Amino acid sequence: MKEQTLAIHAGYEKDAQGTMAVPIYQSTAYEFRDAEHAANLFELKELGNIYTRLMNPTTDVFEKRFAALEKGVAGVGTASGMSAIFYAIANVAEAGDNIIVAKQVYGGTTTLTGHTIKRFGIETRYFDVNNPSEIASLVDEKSKIILFESITNPSIDVADFDAIVAIADKHNIITCVDNTVATPIYCNPLMLGCDVVVHSASKYTTGQGLAIGGVVIERENLVEKIKDNPRYAHFNEPDESYHGLVYSDLPLPPFTLRIRLALLRDLGAAPSPFNSWLYIQGLETLPLRMRQHSSSALAIAKYLEQHPKVKKVNYPGLESNANYTLAQKYFPKGQSGLLSFEVDSLEEAKDIANSTEIFKLVVNIGDSKSIITHPASTTHQQLSAQELVDAGVPAGLVRLSVGLEDTEDLIADLEKALA
Ligand code: PLP
Repeated sequence: MKEQTLAIHAGYEKDAQGTMAVPIYQSTAYEFRDAEHAANLFELKELGNIYTRLMNPTTDVFEKRFAALEKGVAGVGTASGMSAIFYAIANVAEAGDNIIVAKQVYGGTTTLTGHTIKRFGIETRYFDVNNPSEIASLVDEKSKIILFESITNPSIDVADFDAIVAIADKHNIITCVDNTVATPIYCNPLMLGCDVVVHSASKYTTGQGLAIGGVVIERENLVEKIKDNPRYAHFNEPDESYHGLVYSDLPLPPFTLRIRLALLRDLGAAPSPFNSWLYIQGLETLPLRMRQHSSSALAIAKYLEQHPKVKKVNYPGLESNANYTLAQKYFPKGQSGLLSFEVDSLEEAKDIANSTEIFKLVVNIGDSKSIITHPASTTHQQLSAQELVDAGVPAGLVRLSVGLEDTEDLIADLEKALA
């Protein structure tokens, strides 16, 4: 099936009531048929609902639908994009290990990888997403995952998938792509040889800034990379916390299964059923919305490019952009609704952010309502001067998340703010 059909139907089998819309199963727990049924579920002899921290029928539709759109084999929903990223890391790395992360990532991912997980004894080694050959010199036997964004937020760089995957496969390391900005409509990292995809569902998924959530999706046959791979010994050895279960021996996708059985069980950042329902509503129109976000963003990027006050526009759909060739290779159908541009100074950037009317001053992206952000004083405020440079966030950078309003109105709004 094509993506627009999957976005509307994938993962939903009508229940006994035949409800056309996916119901919200607002329940914490589920009644077992008898004690044996309960035991079978816990032992995975039978699959079914146990407790909403682990699974929920509404969330299950969201996970299956998102996995279908990403052309993955299984997904697990989380309470936020950050918990999806944390779980992807915590699923493979422990104290003494290291992870390899692109310098150009969302500010929360920088603080998570550079500070929070450091206190858990996990080291982060950073590479420049524009120079993926740096990865080779960072890898050792303790490296557990390579994490990067397909289109980076807010520097709007484009990852060279082929180059990164070649190094990862050579060393048998799992790659994890944050595909939040590109969305599965424009990019399917799992089809480009990557192993795991994470998303913040808080963005284009709901599409209206309605709820915080996330999802982790794994590719088909990821078990082949994990099985007997000394990097992932804990997938190949008995899990004492789960009666000696060996994840790589099961006929189930191991990466998301372990997140569900071990991390959701113990850390518990599960989505609420109501939020999962909102994500499902959003996914239904994701392909349609992305086309408008993308075409409007390109028109605005072209407008900004010729504006005398604008030093540089970062949008990979522009022919002048350094990432244009990569963008045409990996997402020729559209480059999403996020762009950034640079003006001379912090003050000028703040002035512009204070002057727009339709573009609202908000720290979010992927909303139907257009958003303007000054990353250096907000999303990236906690980064050091060096981290700001590494993340591609100069003081005069302004980020736009182009919404679904009329493109001419949006350009007129910017024209006034830049005057
Ligand atoms: N990844 C990217 C690319 C983001 O832009 C964000 C948030 O802005 C996140 C992850 C974190 O997602 P959440 O806010 O849902 O935790």
